Amino acid sequence: MRYVVFLIVLLMVIMPVAAQDGTGYEAAMLPDYAADLDAFPHAPRYSMTINLDLGADQATFSGFQSVTYTNESSDTLNEIVFRLYPNYESYGGVLTVNRVQIAGSPITPTYDATNSVMHVALAEPLAPNASITIDLAYTTIVVNDRVRLYGQFSYSNGVLATPNFFPQLSVYETGAGWWEYAVQPQGDAVYSETSFFDVQVTTASDVIVITSGSRVADTLNADGSRTVRYLAPLMRDFSLMASSAFETISDTQDGIQIDVHYLPSGTRGADAVLAYAKVAVQTFNELFGPYPFAELDIVETYTNAGGIEYPGLIVVQDDAWNSLDTFLEVVVAHEVAHQWWYSLVGNDQTAYPWMDEALAQYATALYYGKAYGPTADDAVFDSYQGNWQRYLNDFSDLPIGGPVTDYPDNAYYYIVYQKGPLFFKTLADTYGEAALLSALNDYFMAYRYEVATPADMQASFEASLGADLDVLFTEWVG
Ligand SMILES: [Zn+2]
Repeated sequence: MRYVVFLIVLLMVIMPVAAQDGTGYEAAMLPDYAADLDAFPHAPRYSMTINLDLGADQATFSGFQSVTYTNESSDTLNEIVFRLYPNYESYGGVLTVNRVQIAGSPITPTYDATNSVMHVALAEPLAPNASITIDLAYTTIVVNDRVRLYGQFSYSNGVLATPNFFPQLSVYETGAGWWEYAVQPQGDAVYSETSFFDVQVTTASDVIVITSGSRVADTLNADGSRTVRYLAPLMRDFSLMASSAFETISDTQDGIQIDVHYLPSGTRGADAVLAYAKVAVQTFNELFGPYPFAELDIVETYTNAGGIEYPGLIVVQDDAWNSLDTFLEVVVAHEVAHQWWYSLVGNDQTAYPWMDEALAQYATALYYGKAYGPTADDAVFDSYQGNWQRYLNDFSDLPIGGPVTDYPDNAYYYIVYQKGPLFFKTLADTYGEAALLSALNDYFMAYRYEVATPADMQASFEASLGADLDVLFTEWVG
């Protein structure tokens, strides 16, 4: 018995950790922006090795990750908090952390009631500017055809769609502490900081894996499996899609490789999606500022949202994909716009969903203006106005700036997505569209790779527009 115990202890101590050198991230950046890598030496660094099995009943991740976290706050930290999003009711998965170690010493984490917040207590407090590396082993299960909320975390018809499948660092805010919000009634669930991801995935050789960032190695193993390595620098999340059915078409726009991955019936949709995405990337690059990454992936999945945004990767619902109607174009424009508003300029999506959603909707109108001429954006704004007004026939008005939980039922859609973009339209009408676009460019350049709050946005716009925006922000945002 003693030997058995000894062996278990030994196995826990020598838990494998990804043996990767962490260099080569410039492969995932456009050459003009490779220097951005050096501006964030203290961003969290994830090194991950994953075995991914796509079975008949479930998909299973068996993962190891080593995470280096630097305390950039002015507080001394006694714990590090990870988020286990798959355990949310709205995800419907199961993420089990099997082992946690710091410098070879095992630690027993504690959890909140939802199992989506994991506390790792530190034996030695982490002083400001100090770094710590935490090793974790975990298993994540995605049950076949268990679709919850938007089906954002799902395994359906052989297509695996898995954002946030790994233990993900939460955000520490000086004064507020670790972010531990743990409900998702609707909207987006994640709040995270720009990080570096170095990820090796081993799976069956016929499985096509698509992730945030760029694939930098693809090796067939002697046992018939395949190991693929991805690098995703300066991204606030790492998302993974997989299926043996994906086909791909590609093109470039402004030097960015746009890969469109579709299911066998989605050929015509893929052509349309690629065309829309090229116009969207060109428009937002020109209006807001540069998309700095070498790639953008667009993936057809079985989500029942129209589309969902992740850093460097968006998914589009298969029904929209195959409908080829105007909704497909709206979804592609909106989700591509999120690369600027959410992915690059980050925000707490649960507390301030308007910051990225209303801007993505505003950007969608600008896309139409670019694609179809000056009156086309007016038509989009008219539709937002009409939808908001129709809502007001039956419900009372709300400011756009509340947390997701402030909006019962369809209020979220009508207030944040329909009224929200009209706030930016009002700023454009008041100060001139060119001035607002210049302000958005200033805001983008100041906060890309960072997290912005509503106060940051207001201060940035006020500096750019040379105006006091208190009255307008109070009236619209609340
Ligand atoms: Zn959105």
